[in-house]
Amino acid sequence: MGWQPRDELSQAVALEVMLHGPLGRSELARRLDLAPATLTRISGELIRSGLLVETPHAAKRGTGRPSIPLDVVPESHHFIGVKLTGRAMMSAVTNLRAEVLEYREFPLASRHPEEVVAQIVGLVRDARTRRDLDAVGIGLGGVVTQDGTVASAPFLDWADVPLAKLVEELVELPVFAANDLTAFTESQHWFGLGTGHANFATLTIGAGVGYGCVANGRLLSNEDSGVGLVGHWPLDPLGPLCSRGHRGCADGMLTIPAIERDVSTALGRAVPWGEVLALAAAGEPAVERIVTASARALGRLIAAVANLAAPDLVVLGGEGVGLAAIALDAVRAGIVEHRDPRASEVRVELTPGDDESWCRGAAALAIQGYVLTRSRPSP
Ligand SMILES: [Zn+2]
Repeated sequence: MGWQPRDELSQAVALEVMLHGPLGRSELARRLDLAPATLTRISGELIRSGLLVETPHAAKRGTGRPSIPLDVVPESHHFIGVKLTGRAMMSAVTNLRAEVLEYREFPLASRHPEEVVAQIVGLVRDARTRRDLDAVGIGLGGVVTQDGTVASAPFLDWADVPLAKLVEELVELPVFAANDLTAFTESQHWFGLGTGHANFATLTIGAGVGYGCVANGRLLSNEDSGVGLVGHWPLDPLGPLCSRGHRGCADGMLTIPAIERDVSTALGRAVPWGEVLALAAAGEPAVERIVTASARALGRLIAAVANLAAPDLVVLGGEGVGLAAIALDAVRAGIVEHRDPRASEVRVELTPGDDESWCRGAAALAIQGYVLTRSRPSP
């Protein structure tokens, strides 16, 4: 079964049900501002085409005429999302709602584009022995153009690699590639904590610092998305130096390598991230001091985002999200410090920050690409 709503209105109905279903017909008509008769016609067509089903078990109890909610069949479509780093390749197979059914990870055999493409193709072919796939999404740190060409990716040492096209030629499925922060933000937008919010922001911390913003229901992006422009945002005039000589910028205070470096220097031995968090939680004074300063700096960055972009909420993610989890009071203190007391409290939500959530982001690219491209009437 394909995703082929007949026109824009049908597409809007199908999308609304996919993103927010199950939904009763009256609720759908209200959300999309459609006349009940129009909705009855469209939903009838979508049910006959097999895209939507009636779900009597989800019917709300109550008085009045029962309305049988409509839903999509999540398992009717499957997608694979691949996340690339400089050392590994992770993949997740998901259904139409980006729920992960299968997760795998492998070391990167080589950084050479041809070999990375071959490894992705192998992953996709292997996944297809178990399930039919409808599209492929790939996310990576770097600048990626609309057509899925990697303009630059420092972790992979790539420039101008037409990644989506190269993979597409070999797997004969639609392939969509984008910056990983873009992918993560889109997955939060359609399937995560940003669902139902026209304005929200994402901040990720890990090897770098990433920022994404959805405003009026659309992800803000331009040709510089993926450069990592908040990476050197100033946060603490007394903080440590970064690689570019700034004192107390985001890169020097919030990334995992920066915090590991400061803790290792303080303790006189190499301390990996997991141990940094454990020592901070156990109250080791030197580690606690460094982690608290970083968490406070993160709070200042959240306050800056809230003040400048006016989001309903700020979603935190990335491998370093544990910083916020163990020092939430310091994060809050940093927010308060840079927020007008009359302003509303900033809503901050944490995501797991594991590799699976990056893959889910890549799968969301595949789902969006598939659903939005398929909806266009053929010429
Ligand atoms: Zn810097």
